[in-house]
Amino acid sequence: MAFVPVTDSLGNPVLASNGTQRVACTHLAEWLVAYDALQVARGRGHVTYYQTMGGADASAGTHNCGSAWDMAWMGDAAIMDAREMGAAQWHRIPGRNGWPSSGTDHGHGLIRCGDNGCNDYQYAAWLNGWNGLGLGGQGAGDPLPKPVSLRTWQQGIIWAHAEIARLAGTTTTEDDMPIFMRTTDTSIWLLKPGAPPRGLSLDEWNLWARLGATLVGGDFNMQQVNMVSATMQPAPVTVTVPPVTIDPKAIEAALANVTFTTRKA
Ligand SMILES: [Zn+2]
Repeated sequence: MAFVPVTDSLGNPVLASNGTQRVACTHLAEWLVAYDALQVARGRGHVTYYQTMGGADASAGTHNCGSAWDMAWMGDAAIMDAREMGAAQWHRIPGRNGWPSSGTDHGHGLIRCGDNGCNDYQYAAWLNGWNGLGLGGQGAGDPLPKPVSLRTWQQGIIWAHAEIARLAGTTTTEDDMPIFMRTTDTSIWLLKPGAPPRGLSLDEWNLWARLGATLVGGDFNMQQVNMVSATMQPAPVTVTVPPVTIDPKAIEAALANVTFTTRKA
C-alpha cells in the first residue's frame, strides 16, 4: 500500500515538527482535505495534526496502516463532524477513560477505508459504543453520541461538501472564507469567490456552479487552488467546463426563493 502526502484544504503540505511530510493512505489523505475544509468553513481554522501514518509508542500500532490520524482537539463538535463523515473519532483526555495521565490531549480518529489491518478493532469498538482503548478497544464507554447518519468515508466527503455549501450560503461572519467545490472527476478543488445562494442541496449546488459558469460566458469563474490531489496526479492549470444542457424548469426550481449574494473578493 502506498502512502501519500497529507495536505490541508488549501493544498499546503502538512509537515511533522521535524519538517518531514506527513503521509496517510490515499483514502485518509483525501478525506482529511474535506474534513479540514469543513473545519475552516465552520470558523475553527485548520486542523493541527499530531500524527497520521506513524508508529508513536502510545498509539499501539493503530497508525501503522495509514488510516488513522491524531489532531489537536477542536471541540466535541469537530469530533461529531468527523463521525458524520464516517470516521470514528474520540477525544483522548489525559488521565480519563483509559488514556494515561502522561498522554497528550488530542483527538484520535480513523476511517474504515479498507486499510485497517492495524486498527479495525477500534472502528468495531466504536460501532459498539466503546472508546477504542484497552483490550479490544473496549476499555471504556464512548462519551459522545453516534452521528445522525452512519456513513462510509466516501459518503462522509459528500456530506462535508454539502455542509460547506450550506455554510457558505448562511454564514455572514466569514466573508473571506474560501468556498470549495469538487469537480465531478473527483480530483480538483476550486476556490470560488462568490457565495452560492442559501440553502442549496448538493445537486442544486452543482447546478448553481454550472449556471454561474454559463453566466460568465464559458469557463468557471473560479480560481484554482494549488492543490495536490490524493492520487498525486498534478492538477491541470486550467479547468474547462464541458457544455451542459440545463433544463430551464430545473433552473427555475433551483433558484426559486434564493438570493444571490456577493462576497468580498
Ligand atoms: Zn485507506
